[in-house]
Amino acid sequence: MAVSAMNEKDQISAKDAAYIMQGGRCIYCGRVVSHTKATCEHLTPRSYGGKRTYGNVRMACRQCNQARGNGSWLVFWMMMQAARYHGIIQHG
Ligand SMILES: [Zn+2]
Repeated sequence: MAVSAMNEKDQISAKDAAYIMQGGRCIYCGRVVSHTKATCEHLTPRSYGGKRTYGNVRMACRQCNQARGNGSWLVFWMMMQAARYHGIIQHG
């Protein structure tokens, strides 16, 4: 069935899809985030024309979302992986 043929109630938001695909873990720090505290992380920020689509949205915790700001998500992601590798941040 084409997505366009789905009823509104059958559709899943980009944020919820990301939450499920990521197993409830923040894309940056890897912590388990409760659904109510999960934030919608736009890889291309909305201020740069990024849309709330499956391809552009991931799930992140509030702290990481705010820390990244409008900077490059990839640079921030790599910084966070390095921090995790070196044990600078603890995660669940
Ligand atoms: Zn995080």
